[in-house]
Amino acid sequence: MHDDRDLVEARLKRVLNERIRPALYPESVPMEVAVWHAPDEPVPVAEGLAATPEPIAVGDAWGAPWGTSWFTVTGTVPERWAGRTVEALLDLGFDEDMPGFQCEGLVYLPDGTPVKGLNPRNQWVRVGAPAEGGERVRLHVEAASNPVILDRHPFQPTRLGDKETAGSDPLYRVARMDLAVFDETVWQLVMDLEVLGELMHQLPVDGARRWELLRAVNRALDAVDLQDVNGTAAAARAELTGVLSAPAVPSAHRISAVGHAHIDSAWLWPLRETVRKVARTASNMTALLEDEPDFVFAMSQAQQWAWIKEHRPEVWAKVTKAVASGRFVPAGGMWVESDTNMPGSEAMARQFVHGKRFFIDEFGIDNDEVWLPDTFGFAAGLPQIIKAAGSKRLLTQKISWSQTNTFPHHTFLWEGLDGTRIFTHFPPVDTYNCSMTGGELAHAARNFKDKGVARHSLAPTGWGDGGGGTTREMVAKAARVRDLEGSPAVTWETPADFFAKAEAEYPNPPVWAGELYLELHRATLTSQAKTKQGNRRSEHLLREAELWAATAAVRAGAPYPYAQLDRIWKTVLLHQFHDILPGSSIAWVHREARRTYELVAEELNAVIDTAQRALAGDASGGTLVFNGAPHARGGVPAGGAARPEPGVETTVRDRDGGGHVLDNGLLKVEVDARGLIVSVYDVAADRETVAPGQVAGLLQLHPDFPNKWDAWDVDEFYRNTGTDLTGADEVSLVDGSVRVRRSFGSSSVTQVFTLSGRRLDIDTEVDWHETEKFLKLAFPLDVHADRYASESQYGHVFRATHTNTSWEAAKFEACNHRFVHVEEPGWGVALVNDSTYGHDVTRTAGDAGTTTTVRVSLLRAPRFPDPETDQGVHRFRHALVPGATIGDAVREGYVVNLPERRVPGDAEVAPLVTVDDDAVVVTAVKLADDESGDVIVRFHESRGGRARATLTPGFPVAEVVATDLLERPTGEPRRHDGPVPVTLRPFELVTVRIKRA
Ligand SMILES: [Zn+2]
Repeated sequence: MHDDRDLVEARLKRVLNERIRPALYPESVPMEVAVWHAPDEPVPVAEGLAATPEPIAVGDAWGAPWGTSWFTVTGTVPERWAGRTVEALLDLGFDEDMPGFQCEGLVYLPDGTPVKGLNPRNQWVRVGAPAEGGERVRLHVEAASNPVILDRHPFQPTRLGDKETAGSDPLYRVARMDLAVFDETVWQLVMDLEVLGELMHQLPVDGARRWELLRAVNRALDAVDLQDVNGTAAAARAELTGVLSAPAVPSAHRISAVGHAHIDSAWLWPLRETVRKVARTASNMTALLEDEPDFVFAMSQAQQWAWIKEHRPEVWAKVTKAVASGRFVPAGGMWVESDTNMPGSEAMARQFVHGKRFFIDEFGIDNDEVWLPDTFGFAAGLPQIIKAAGSKRLLTQKISWSQTNTFPHHTFLWEGLDGTRIFTHFPPVDTYNCSMTGGELAHAARNFKDKGVARHSLAPTGWGDGGGGTTREMVAKAARVRDLEGSPAVTWETPADFFAKAEAEYPNPPVWAGELYLELHRATLTSQAKTKQGNRRSEHLLREAELWAATAAVRAGAPYPYAQLDRIWKTVLLHQFHDILPGSSIAWVHREARRTYELVAEELNAVIDTAQRALAGDASGGTLVFNGAPHARGGVPAGGAARPEPGVETTVRDRDGGGHVLDNGLLKVEVDARGLIVSVYDVAADRETVAPGQVAGLLQLHPDFPNKWDAWDVDEFYRNTGTDLTGADEVSLVDGSVRVRRSFGSSSVTQVFTLSGRRLDIDTEVDWHETEKFLKLAFPLDVHADRYASESQYGHVFRATHTNTSWEAAKFEACNHRFVHVEEPGWGVALVNDSTYGHDVTRTAGDAGTTTTVRVSLLRAPRFPDPETDQGVHRFRHALVPGATIGDAVREGYVVNLPERRVPGDAEVAPLVTVDDDAVVVTAVKLADDESGDVIVRFHESRGGRARATLTPGFPVAEVVATDLLERPTGEPRRHDGPVPVTLRPFELVTVRIKRA
């Protein structure tokens, strides 16, 4: 037979586009349109419905950036349409290629009942099939004129990302506002032809099935009368029933489709817009669930559910009803889909506490799975936290975005730093916005790395990022590939149902140990420094607020601010969302975040101050030092208050050859005439810290213009060039410290070097006015090390200092919490920080052996999405700790993040709980969230070894019980009236609930 394949494929494409799709709506009449523009921010629904609109015509411009416009559309169903299916087609001026990234709407009935969301791929509203014509239709649309930030020329700087700079020129034109007859038979024909056409292109050309589909499609096109598509669509469909009813082969890949809309809690839109995006998508999805009995939709991020409940009660009523049906499913168990690299131990734990608790309280649903499709890498502390929260499974697909290495598994056990293993699935469809195309389904089947031992994968299906969710077209396509020869078999399922099948079929999956490092978006550890500092400060203030408020409650009977702390925690957790803390949102989001963090600090400082004053006794009785850190310092016990002991004196003198020398008997530091640290001598160890011939505390400025994703990415070539900032405007002694001022480009910096016990503190203040530059602070250390440690949640991870393999080379920028640590046997160095996360560690070979350079990432200056990223004044504190063990690194990391507080008073405060082994670190002391008055203590082994310790409550105890993170008992309560012995595995995390006697 002659090969006419190309001819038929081209025929299908043209006839579908130019004849069949246009016949979907064979008749239409225009509706009348009027609009009221809200003067500023969004208004309540009742106010929008009650406003008096002005007429507006199709083609007219509307929509200042970030504005809200309430459209009223009215029309009459023509008499001749009696009995036919009628829909309103409402096109606000959409660009079909930008779902979720431009204008959107939520349709209401006149009584305020939400109908569904409007977005580029979802412009229809079903009016019904009126038995008689003449019916009046009136709909209201709350339309948001959100600007397109990431368009076809991506990553160009734009002022549209903040209402304050976006201007007021209208962005959209009303495109179509019609009542129209919907021809369902034509629509079904479109679905048939799309599914078969897409499947056909995925099948091997030398296989019979491909040709069967081609012939059937050709017959169907023969059956279509191009002058009467509506009259012949049924005949065309009849030609396709044979090929559509051939069942899937027994070895077909099985896909669990989960309806989804990955909605970024803030990104290229502000938080307040996400509140509305979630309401639009949830309305769409409750409507779709009513129409489609097989469909299942999952929505993650308890915060987004809470927004619907608080702001859109009419949508919440529909959602709760749909949840009760079991097909609108709370997914995951976190407050938001947070970043997981940067959140500290307790904050990571509280993401689960507040996320899971919301779903349990509202619906009685306690999820097993963690849902993080889009987060930028996964810290090795996470598996233990997931397990401690009572969950056991994880889903993400983001690692498929890695630029260098291909991850070897799609279903596997992920082992964390303590050894906890979590059943993990990466959907091989490689997207969280699957739209059920044949190409996506075939890619999932081909790409699945566990073929032969496993058959199931999951496909999150629906428009995401900016919302929208699943469409009726995706549901129609899924129905056709439920059991279809040549295609993977697709079934709508809940995440829990998928995981149950995946686990059952794969009893011994492979194991991946350690962090799931994303080889992309590494600059998210540095961009928007003030957002990162706000997070770090807030986490430590929350620790202090809980500790001192609990102590004041137990010791002094002071009221414990349950509701206030709950609210502040949720605010801090929200800002750990994977585009806020990583610094990848528009200017508006980060401007608001800076203000929010200021308010959080004010509130928490007031909580701490109130509690400490309740404990401190007579204010005329001198000064007490409160130590909120988990280790004793300066004679003050951890979690207690006492009179301060005097510190070690530092002597200063001029250095031969220029510069200054700081000496406190423990360390002797030489700063040269250029203001660079040439020596940090550890007196007791008789050992130099700085690598031979090099200088520490050196600021290095690199060009930083990644190939794409400006705020997200730093590409490795940034290192090829750079400038050492060695010119000093001033090097002077001030109050026992050395102060250095430098200027460079349009910026200036002041560094202050101070000795503090065994620490050399480095305070850096930068007035930053660069663009597309990367500022590093370098410490070349005379340490020979193959690996280094960096702090993560409830422990630390090791990374190589070399680049032997592509996996190691790809980690050229990585995350630390409060410290990085390098060591030779018997002697190490810690570099601790009060607010930076990004760093790199490299090896340098010289005549004197191999040395290790640790560099801290201070600031970047990308211009997208915030064109003014990081401009202005920033302050950082770092400290070099020569001779440090890992234990010292842990302790000093806490010290720089938890400055002691001096409070007038005379009553020394004993700690609420003490632990007799410094390896065991208490991460939280608080009262139980159930307001029972029980004391909750969480602690972990911090050095990677075994610990046997005694936990001693400083108050009368009735009983003690181990709990999960949600403070639910996991064992039998034990009666205790004194010390509690504890034995911990390396990095083991334990929570106990202590009932007071
Ligand atoms: Zn996202």
